[in-house]
Amino acid sequence: MSLITIQIVCTNDTHSQFEPFEKKLGLSINQTTSNLGGVARRKTIFKQLTQDVPGTLILDVGDHFTGSDFFTFFQGELEMKILKQLNYHASALGNHDFDGVLGESKGLHRFLHTSSTHCPKTQMLCSNILDGTTFQPILKPYIILEPVLNVRVGVTAVMGEHAWKVSLSLSLVR
Ligand SMILES: [Zn+2]
Repeated sequence: MSLITIQIVCTNDTHSQFEPFEKKLGLSINQTTSNLGGVARRKTIFKQLTQDVPGTLILDVGDHFTGSDFFTFFQGELEMKILKQLNYHASALGNHDFDGVLGESKGLHRFLHTSSTHCPKTQMLCSNILDGTTFQPILKPYIILEPVLNVRVGVTAVMGEHAWKVSLSLSLVR
C-alpha cells in the first residue's frame, strides 16, 4: 500500500483586502510591526504549496466581500477575478457575500452573477440555502474533487444560522 498525500489549503474572511498591510504584533514593550497579507503573497504561497504537494485543494469558507474601497467601487468583481487567478477549487458563502448591489442585481443574485462571470471554475457551495418554492438548494450542495488520480474527496458547505441572520440575505433571496 502506498502513501497518498492530500493537502487542503483554506482561507477565510479575506474581505476585499488585496494589498499587504502593516500590523503591530506583540505586547506594548516588545512590539514589532509585520507586513502581512496581500493577494500577490497569497498566490506565491499557494504556488509553493501546490508544487510541494500536487494533490492540493484550495478552498475558501467565505466573506470575500466588504472591507475596502475595491468592494465599494466594483461590488465584488475583483474578489471573484482573484479567486480565478489563485485557482480556488471551491468556496462557501459568508454573510458578507450578500452585500453586493449593482443596479437591480443584489445580494445572492449579485454574488452568483459575479462568481459565474469571473470565476466560473470555482464551485460556490452551500447545502442549506434553499429555494423558497422548491426547497431545493440554490447553490451546489457539494462537489467531488479528485486531487490525486483515483482519490476522490467530497467538499460541502453550510451557512450557520447566525451568519444567515446577520446577512442582508433575508429580503434579497426570496
Ligand atoms: Zn468576515
